[in-house]
Amino acid sequence: MVIGNILNSIVNFVFPPQCYVCKKILESEDGLCFECLSKINFITKPRCSCCGIPFEFNIEGKNKKLLCPKCMLKYYRFDECISSVRYDDISKKIILPFKHGDRTNFAKFMAKIMYTSGKSIIEKSDIIIPVPIHFTRMLKRKYNQSSLLCKFIGKRSNKPVLYSLLIRKHATASQGHFSLTQRKQNILGAFTIKNPDKIKGKNILLIDDVFTTGATVNECSKILKQNGVNKIYVLTFARAVK
Ligand SMILES: [Zn+2]
Ligand SMILES: [Zn+2]
Repeated sequence: MVIGNILNSIVNFVFPPQCYVCKKILESEDGLCFECLSKINFITKPRCSCCGIPFEFNIEGKNKKLLCPKCMLKYYRFDECISSVRYDDISKKIILPFKHGDRTNFAKFMAKIMYTSGKSIIEKSDIIIPVPIHFTRMLKRKYNQSSLLCKFIGKRSNKPVLYSLLIRKHATASQGHFSLTQRKQNILGAFTIKNPDKIKGKNILLIDDVFTTGATVNECSKILKQNGVNKIYVLTFARAVK
């Protein structure tokens, strides 16, 4: 323990904790400095009680369950989704280095935020599953960013994480510049399940870093439901809101 503390002090001296966004040196753990944290746009109520998209205006009747037009038409296959922050210029400065720049150390901080905003759906879940990436992308990137988030959320909530139950069988093209229809086409039939017995009748928490159009988590939810899952909850760090 003492040696651990000494080592920690040496590491902190040589590599002091920094703000992920403005690179200012921080006193305690790494994460965001106060100024950068205050610029993050957290998603709070009022929001859709199904897909979690924030509403721009306050609606009468605070305790009523509010649904967006898509959820009124039962567009999504999952039961409830919560995203912690808006995907915008500031959250991008955390997400992009985390996803594409080997900044895997951001995971703990992001998972902490997700744990706080997603507590209600984490508690209702039996098993945690990351949205998988294809193994060719895994070879290139060396890690699945959603699995890293699952690791911390699983530890904190004491829920089991099944890392290789849901498998991405197609190396789908990167969806960055795709339209909604193209994304749906691109992802169709991209996933398969190993050991479906492990999830029959269970409530699943599906974790991803960003919810863009919902096409990916929707396709994952479709196959999970086809394999006998009871409820599907989705938790993402960020959400694209147009
Ligand atoms: Zn900062
Ligand atoms: Zn909705």
